[in-house]
Amino acid sequence: MENLWNDTEASKHKDILAERVYSSRLLGANTNLVLHGGGNTSVKGVSRNIFGEDVDTLFVKGSGSDLATIEARDFVAVRLDAMLKLSRLEKLSDIDMARELKLASLDPNAPAPSVEAILHALIPHRFVDHTHADAIVTITNTADGEARIRDLFGDEVIVLSYVMPGFDLAKLCAEIYPAQATVRTIGMVLMNHGIFSFGDTAKQAYDRMITLVGRAEDYLNTHAPLVPATGIEPAANWFELPGLRKKVSTAAGFPLLLRSNAGSAALSFARQPDIAAIAQRGPATPDHIIRTKRLPMLGRDVEAYTQAYKNYFEKNSGAVKTPLTMLDPAPRVIIDPEFGLVSAGRSARDTQIVEDIYLHTQDIILRGEKLGGYRALGEAELFSMEYWDLEQAKLKKAGAPKAFAGEVALVTGAASGIGKACVQAFLNRGAAVVGVDINPAVVSLYGDRADYLGIAADLSSTDAVKEILEQTIRHYGGLDMLVLNAGIFPGGKKISALGNDEWRKVMAINLDSNLAIMREAHPLLKAAPRYGRVVVIGSKNVPAPGPGAAAYSASKAALTQLARVAALEWGADAIRINLVHPNAVFDTGIWTPEVLAQRAAHYGMTVDEYKRNNVLREEVSSKDVAELTAEMCGALFSKITGAQIPIDGGNDRVI
Ligand code: ZN
Repeated sequence: MENLWNDTEASKHKDILAERVYSSRLLGANTNLVLHGGGNTSVKGVSRNIFGEDVDTLFVKGSGSDLATIEARDFVAVRLDAMLKLSRLEKLSDIDMARELKLASLDPNAPAPSVEAILHALIPHRFVDHTHADAIVTITNTADGEARIRDLFGDEVIVLSYVMPGFDLAKLCAEIYPAQATVRTIGMVLMNHGIFSFGDTAKQAYDRMITLVGRAEDYLNTHAPLVPATGIEPAANWFELPGLRKKVSTAAGFPLLLRSNAGSAALSFARQPDIAAIAQRGPATPDHIIRTKRLPMLGRDVEAYTQAYKNYFEKNSGAVKTPLTMLDPAPRVIIDPEFGLVSAGRSARDTQIVEDIYLHTQDIILRGEKLGGYRALGEAELFSMEYWDLEQAKLKKAGAPKAFAGEVALVTGAASGIGKACVQAFLNRGAAVVGVDINPAVVSLYGDRADYLGIAADLSSTDAVKEILEQTIRHYGGLDMLVLNAGIFPGGKKISALGNDEWRKVMAINLDSNLAIMREAHPLLKAAPRYGRVVVIGSKNVPAPGPGAAAYSASKAALTQLARVAALEWGADAIRINLVHPNAVFDTGIWTPEVLAQRAAHYGMTVDEYKRNNVLREEVSSKDVAELTAEMCGALFSKITGAQIPIDGGNDRVI
């Protein structure tokens, strides 16, 4: 395991908290140590209160932050004496513990301290690092895992048997640590959970983590070497995935995104002959259960999975005194020999996290098998983690999800103007968005955020349309909302001068390519969990054409008629299709300040008068059109199809 410590870098960090941030990020940079918010770190120091008194302080990672990107403000300062006093209580519920941790915080606005804060306080060393390192988790999840750990580390680590994180774990540590720690102790292994290392400096604690985990990795490389799978080609019919997504979403009670990984590692794992046995033993470390559920779904039988989940809840909830709220019974991990690893979540980020966790889990399982058999915690222990009262409390506090959470929108002509504004409007409402444009700028419009996929393509090719839909399915599982915005507005030309080629070009882009995308997207929209919605960006020129725009006006009028027929044909599939007719939207690429000034002068107006040349004297922006478009896909329009709405500030030829 690579040691990333750099003395020159480290020496730039002058105080203990800055050092703490530096080495926490080194841990976070290695996904074999820490994955998506897992693990935590702390440092003990002194802070000064408002009375000028020094207070012994534990700076511990707050909940909700990630070691890879952690900042000084993500560490919560808590009173060390309060932590130690809490550890001496006979009993404390985790809900009460969480409240006491919050009360011991020196800043009322700080995030909640990690639930492992008391444990950090109990270890007398100044710097304490905690990870859920894959190598440690692998070895401890085997039948003779504890013996192997003791062989490997001797008296350098203390071993704690599995206890659920929270007060009970802190209590166990309070009992074992002082009894067993010696001058040689540099770490502590928590069975089926992870590892702690500690030291008097940030470097010492970090070095010890790398040394201990490195030793476990070397052991695995000798006793359970993993040969990475390569060269396995996916052979899936991706257009079957939206149907599976609909079933999974129905089981959940709300729409979920599905993200598929058909890389060699995922396919090879899904095709293991004993997959049914090895993938049904449980997660590698119990905190994964919150994201992945206890078991993946093997294959596509959602009903059987749902029933098994309900049985598991019934069986285990009986033993708990307080009434529990059952989580939705839909899977979060699906293992399929054709789709590979499919992860489900309410946001694209969630699906990405689930995928990362399970890719690590696969390797842990395979190595555990080579080491004599992968074993996870028992059902009851895992249930207590999944239905931990702290998690149940979080559910009660969680606000309503965004309007389009778990849904997918595809916007054409997304690189600029109304299309770009539509992408933003749908992202704001929680949708994952696929933006398509012939302009390659569409690809990097939003950096690499998980909920945006930009595809540069020419929609006049039906093959390209099919490829776009396949990518949409592989990234997000299907399609719920389609915004047909791409189009061209050629320069003004009288009919007497309008050539066939120019006419056909406008028709091909503004009309024909929309037919192709509607036809190919129809089965996806039909399989949308809350039924498909389509919004067509028409034009004022449909109800009120202008001279010199024959091809454009005719193409938009034909597109409008196409949409009206679709409303009639697709109503039986509960797909809604509506139109907006914008006019005079000037914040788009074609309206440069020069062109605007020219047109305004042509009509004897100022630019501002020209922009507001409508009944209401209001300027209409791309954002106005985009917001209306998004709302037309929402609940307000749930009983409307085939409607045409002008968005033009009022036009006397349209009214
Ligand atoms: Zn932990």
